[in-house]
Amino acid sequence: MAGRPVEPAIFTAVWRWDEIETVVEREGWMVINGRPFCPAAPAWPAAELQRLVLALRQAGVETRAACLRRELARQFRPAHWARRQQLVRRVSRWPVVANTLALLALAALSPAALPPGVLLSKEVAERLAQFVPGLLAAGALAFVVGAVAAVLAARRLRRWLTPGTVKVILVALLFPPQGLRWRRVLTDAMRPAPHPLLLVSGPGGRSVRRELALATLADVRWPLPLPERGDIGRLAEAAAMRKWYAAEFEGRVLGPWLAQAGLTAEELLAPPPPDSAASCAYCPRCGSQFVRTDGGCPRGIALVELKRPRRQQVTSAK
Ligand SMILES: [Zn+2]
Repeated sequence: MAGRPVEPAIFTAVWRWDEIETVVEREGWMVINGRPFCPAAPAWPAAELQRLVLALRQAGVETRAACLRRELARQFRPAHWARRQQLVRRVSRWPVVANTLALLALAALSPAALPPGVLLSKEVAERLAQFVPGLLAAGALAFVVGAVAAVLAARRLRRWLTPGTVKVILVALLFPPQGLRWRRVLTDAMRPAPHPLLLVSGPGGRSVRRELALATLADVRWPLPLPERGDIGRLAEAAAMRKWYAAEFEGRVLGPWLAQAGLTAEELLAPPPPDSAASCAYCPRCGSQFVRTDGGCPRGIALVELKRPRRQQVTSAK
């Protein structure tokens, strides 16, 4: 238990769009109007939220719904993401070729680093020794060419990359393992990064898809409770807005995604098997199990009673 990281404080905060003055990222947090709001996420950088705030302000109250729908469609458009991926693959092909050549040179050099007789016979080791200077030179050349090609690729992709990516590449040069995976360095620097949900239909294991889909679905169906104190009218407005967003998101984005990934909400949200004889309730958001049925989980989500396995089988069979 002592080794577990401290969980960040959980809170919710409410702002109207026109009250948001500043959005910045600081020490791993998205900070709104000077108050830490949520952990910073590459899929939703501060600059994107600031841009949306400006757009919504200019749109006026009546056209905000249309603007938010457009935003949802833009953020979760798989075709858009696929095109960007293709572009990165195309632009980063030369750094990848150089990386592969450097790795091959390194692989060919490795047996030569062992004392003769361990892996290779003395005779073969001596013959290989003749090629060592050439292989070293070829590996070093490929490494340098790869770095130059990565810088050129970063310049071509600069519209999509976080500022300072060229500097990241130059620093990575000092750490050869980093300098052998330029495509990864470039894709990691892309902003905004794809929303994790975009991976639901992409390649990847079914368990990853399930986990992402469940996390998103649980967040939409059981959001964190709104602040307990505050202007009642304002909180009601926030609750209505959140309900609108959840319905739009589930209907327009999440529903089609689940269908495409071959998953259903019912299957994802099926009650977990009890983890002990005493557990009789669970939190539908985080999945924690409890030995009482009243109250909520530490995050304030109301508990759901857990049926015992035998009864559960009967209900699912009907
Ligand atoms: Zn919970």
